[in-house]
Amino acid sequence: MQGHVIEQVRVRNASLRWPVPRAVQRARGRNVLGLIRRGKYLLIDCGSGGLMCHLGMSGSLRICEDGDPPRLHDHFDLVMDSGHCVRFHDPRRFGALLWWDSPWQSHALLSELGPEPLSDDFDGDYLWQRSRGLSVAVKNFIMNGKIVVGVGNIYASEALFMAGVHPSRAAGRVSRERYQGLAIAIRDVLGHAIRRGGTTLRDFHGTGGEPGYFAQELLVYDREGNACFQCQHAIHRKVIGQRSSYYCPHCQR
Ligand SMILES: [Zn+2]
Repeated sequence: MQGHVIEQVRVRNASLRWPVPRAVQRARGRNVLGLIRRGKYLLIDCGSGGLMCHLGMSGSLRICEDGDPPRLHDHFDLVMDSGHCVRFHDPRRFGALLWWDSPWQSHALLSELGPEPLSDDFDGDYLWQRSRGLSVAVKNFIMNGKIVVGVGNIYASEALFMAGVHPSRAAGRVSRERYQGLAIAIRDVLGHAIRRGGTTLRDFHGTGGEPGYFAQELLVYDREGNACFQCQHAIHRKVIGQRSSYYCPHCQR
């Protein structure tokens, strides 16, 4: 898309998570200057504004030719001057297509997001400072997008195991030194999962339709009753903040 003009924004079904606004038509005839990802939002920079897309729970984007007939649940197309078409497919319709005005950082959905975990803005000192006085479980703390984006349930469980931190420990009662280890573990687990193509548990696929292979390397997630790889004690499961958490009661304190 980058360097190409969006010739048409063809909306077949505007009933997504939020109704697709008319403002998305402002992208017509505009050159795509760049593509940005922030949290789970995909931003298409058209210069002084742009499109924002979110895949929701079941959404995907694929590239096809403009003449290819749409399938069921193909809700919008971005038709490029190259003749290619970026087509959005989403059976559950929790995805989104919105317009943002510059600067994108001030958009209501983006302005309160915490730092990207793989950026220089994120480290153990940051987590330690933000957590002082908080009694919320450390697992919920690191999964809160206002604290840091991108740490989903699987990766939170894995990073806490790697750092030896018990998931239900109060965030405010984790030391600065242990947060430094946890921040490194979060970066390591995300970096490794990205290199392995993500974690396929249900219906995730890569851009070429292939599954992710990280699920085969999970240390604690979904391993209730199995032996810990470090100490051989059984992995426990506990619901924390309505999400299943897996941990080793022997290795994590
Ligand atoms: Zn263990």
